[in-house]
Amino acid sequence: HAKKSGGKRHQFFTRKLTEHARERFIMEADLRHAVERNEFVLYYQPKVDLITGKSRSMEALIRWQHPVKGFTLPGNFIGIAEETGLLTLISKWTIRTVCRQLRQWKQQGVGLLSVAINLSATFFQQADFEETIESALYETGVPPECLELELTEATLMSDPEKVLASMAAMKALGVQLSIDDFGMGYSCLNYLKKLPIDKLKIDQSFIHNIAYDTDNMAVVRAIMSIGRSMQLKVIAEGVENASQLAWLQAEGSEEAQGFYFSRPLSASRLTPLLKQEANYLHNPRGRLRLRE
Ligand code: C2E
Ligand code: MG
Ligand code: MG
Ligand code: MG
Repeated sequence: HAKKSGGKRHQFFTRKLTEHARERFIMEADLRHAVERNEFVLYYQPKVDLITGKSRSMEALIRWQHPVKGFTLPGNFIGIAEETGLLTLISKWTIRTVCRQLRQWKQQGVGLLSVAINLSATFFQQADFEETIESALYETGVPPECLELELTEATLMSDPEKVLASMAAMKALGVQLSIDDFGMGYSCLNYLKKLPIDKLKIDQSFIHNIAYDTDNMAVVRAIMSIGRSMQLKVIAEGVENASQLAWLQAEGSEEAQGFYFSRPLSASRLTPLLKQEANYLHNPRGRLRLRE
């Protein structure tokens, strides 16, 4: 009997594995065509200046409009895209699209904004990485200062020498650099000091319980203090409610981002809010409405 059920379990696992492999295989095939079929779309999430309540910068977040599965978040495909090398193509599309959007916003009269792009380690280490950024800026006439690159601590640690060289090249161009999900990795402060970065983004896991979790309060205060002493800007991500915002404001936080202010929006939904210079402090979540 034991043998029989073991066999069944074996069958079960094999079937699961096969299904998993099959799904990956299909996903990979789908991803391969997604760029040429124009299935990706960028959403933009405002970063809010806590002094003025306005937003002049956003973060681009990729979504995949899958022909069968529908609206798909990056957590479901970025990993596979990276493993299969397809993320290079996707990243190039993202950089071009962001620069074109910046140019379009300028043409639409909302002025110069800045947009942050999330970049993965593999792409940052690519030989033609710098050229990709430069030509996208050149093609669109977007000033380098309007582009920000978000890198994770894992990216920084993966090939420190190459990464440092790429970062130096970006700084020389005038592109801004941030460390995303800061506090989640193991970057040592001595190394951090040597990097030409402008900004730390405090990981949202620390913000989640910030109004009542004293450990998280200590971590966030420490990051803010590192920022002040290293002359780095600090932004809190994942702000979802008024008490988290109140705590951050009381600590002197200057910039924040999160569902409390706005979810990531398509460019067509964001543009009218930019035109009316929405105030995110006076009109938090869900209350930002377009003026008639
Ligand atoms: P991230 O760069 O740390 O982006 C923040 C994520 O948190 C986004 O999820 C955003 O929608 C979500 N978020 C923002 N505010 C809140 C909040 O108040 N509460 C909660 N619970 N979540 C919030 P998303 O768009 O699913 O992206 C997940 C991750 O995928 C990103 O994390 C980033 O690492 C990666 N990613 C997104 N777009 C790209 C891209 O174009 N290229 C690459 N390489 N990675 C990307
Ligand atoms: Mg990010
Ligand atoms: Mg993050
Ligand atoms: Mg993240």
